[in-house]
Amino acid sequence: MMQSYKYAVLGNPIEHSLSPVLHEAGYRAIGLDASYERIKVTKETLPATVQNLVEQKFNGWNVTYPLKGEIIQYLDEIDPRARLLGAVNTVKVSGKRLLGYNTDGPGLIRGLTSQGFSTKDKKVTIFGAGGAAKAVALALAETGAKVTVINRSFEKAQNLVELLLAQGYEAATLAIGQTTGNRLLTQCLAGTDIVVQATSVGLEKEKYPYPLHGLRAGTVAIDLIYNPPKTDFMIKSHLQGCEVLNGLSMLLYQGVLAWEIWLDACAPVSEMKTALYQSSIP
Ligand code: NDP
Repeated sequence: MMQSYKYAVLGNPIEHSLSPVLHEAGYRAIGLDASYERIKVTKETLPATVQNLVEQKFNGWNVTYPLKGEIIQYLDEIDPRARLLGAVNTVKVSGKRLLGYNTDGPGLIRGLTSQGFSTKDKKVTIFGAGGAAKAVALALAETGAKVTVINRSFEKAQNLVELLLAQGYEAATLAIGQTTGNRLLTQCLAGTDIVVQATSVGLEKEKYPYPLHGLRAGTVAIDLIYNPPKTDFMIKSHLQGCEVLNGLSMLLYQGVLAWEIWLDACAPVSEMKTALYQSSIP
């Protein structure tokens, strides 16, 4: 009898997760007998949920907000990138062992390269120093990008830069003060090849808090937010002549990479992409 595979995404809130759409499209494309479900899980219900998933012979699951750090204590092995980030978004069940990975940062890189953008030796400015910023900063540095981190809480930006420097990568931060801040930021953006918007500002359609007039034409500006599909950051970057992307391709490729970890095979990217992009049209 053909084996059937079981996958899921755990988080809270989880109702709006697009992960089932992209994974199920992949299963259909290759005729794989597999399911992928959304499961609402809190920190409190996580241990029982993990036990259930193992008992029900799930093959793996994705982990999203607010459980990416929390899940680590229930795993047997963590890959070095996820360990460094303190965050896992993909769990693979291998025999009796639970293995943890983080595909968020590599998802951004694969999204950029699939659209013809190289990150090697590029100057990259990242706004934000939360979980997503950390994941993309590490992945960008790994590809040879020189990263500058700007964050509202300066100390968090410094911590992220220290993490990158400790790995031997080139990284810096910028103190955006009341008097000198705008000038420093304008200079920084003028020398930037790629700017990554990794704060949560824009999720509620807010105005972008940082001045972007330093951005020059041709710079690639990517917002990790994909819902709404166009943010104030994207609109302002476009007005500066930037090539503008939202976070949908990162979402696609973090899923593609999870698929490839689970099934040890290339994912049917074009079918997964079509399904995801269609379902995300407002
Ligand atoms: P975190 O809560 O970990 O970090 C939020 C970041 O936003 C912090 O750096 C915070 O700064 C900053 N921030 C929040 N409000 C403001 C404000 N008013 N002004 C300036 N900075 C602000 O969130 P995540 O890192 O997990 O997620 C960030 C974004 O990335 C979200 O929008 C999420 O949707 C998106 N994302 C997209 C993914 C994709 O696949 N496309 C994957 C993961 C995330 P401070 O440190 O000072 O609080």
